[in-house]
Amino acid sequence: MRHNFGAGPCILPQEVFKQASRAILDFKDGLSILEISHRSPEFEGVMAEANKLVKELLNVPSGYSVLFLQGGASLQFAMVPMNLLPEGKTAAYLETGVWANKAIKEVKFFGKAEVVASSKEANFSFIPKDFAIPADAAYFHYTSNNTIYGTELFEVPKTTVPVVCDMSSDIMSRVIDVSQFDLIYAGAQKNIGPAGLTIVIVKDEILGQSGRAIPSMLDYASYKDNDSMYNTPPVFSIYTAMLNLNWLKSKGGVAEIEKENKAKADALYKEIDRNPLFKGTCAVEDRSRMNICFVMENPELEKPFAKFADDNGFEGLKGHRSVGGFRASMYNALPITSVHALIDLMQEFEEKQN
Ligand code: PMP
Repeated sequence: MRHNFGAGPCILPQEVFKQASRAILDFKDGLSILEISHRSPEFEGVMAEANKLVKELLNVPSGYSVLFLQGGASLQFAMVPMNLLPEGKTAAYLETGVWANKAIKEVKFFGKAEVVASSKEANFSFIPKDFAIPADAAYFHYTSNNTIYGTELFEVPKTTVPVVCDMSSDIMSRVIDVSQFDLIYAGAQKNIGPAGLTIVIVKDEILGQSGRAIPSMLDYASYKDNDSMYNTPPVFSIYTAMLNLNWLKSKGGVAEIEKENKAKADALYKEIDRNPLFKGTCAVEDRSRMNICFVMENPELEKPFAKFADDNGFEGLKGHRSVGGFRASMYNALPITSVHALIDLMQEFEEKQN
């Protein structure tokens, strides 16, 4: 058995893989999900159910729309300022990693980004705390979970301006209060489903305010007004996301999975802090529950530990090149048994050194 700690695309529940593969062969009357029209009543049903599940699982209040797009979270880096930043205005950004940085870079095509705080000097190993968000900013943007560095913001920063959040790597992992946000976006390929789909949750009243002429495919309104079917949507990604969200619902929803995610993260951090061979790379109070980054006290042991992990069936543990060491990504579908297996592996490796 392989334990998949990959950062994304990542593990999804085995039963979702099985259901999705059955639908490739026979979704309806012998027809594959891959060959039916997106305008068929069957697929319209899938779309409606996926939309309803996002709303249900995140308790999305009325006055918000759930949209299904393509282009990944990276396209949102540009779509957000294109749709929400009026000419001549400034948007406020919190720089907590590479993804935030890429989002900041896209703003220059539309206006100005003011970086309200950054932890770049410390290789993004913590979340800046004391920063002021200008009251006249068009919006404030932050990344709730920094996939590469393993830091997470559990509290929404206080501000009077609209809040935009890149939630790609922690959406559906813990309970959030959607009413604290004006726009949430997430690439699907962690806790939602396969790659190829992006989810946007937007407060309807903030749309149509930028005064810009926006091409149809880049205008949130096109998705909102056409039930995310302005053009052909990523049918199979949406279908599989629907299966995965149904799995989450059957497990008791986000509040239940949050308990599991907390137990998984607590167990691994406990071992990292106890085992003299390993150390965490981030400020303890900012540690992510989804991506757990650690290095070895003796860097010379990293290669042997990586090999030991590989030989024992562990996948995707290599840290991102900008942090080095190891990263255990522990999304919703990763069973706690895999976390216990990793802890056992770390302990066995420790014994081998003595
Ligand atoms: N934001 C975050 C937090 C991410 O983790 C990622 C990808 N891992 C991205 C943005 C970019 O997403 P995509 O590849 O879907 O464009």
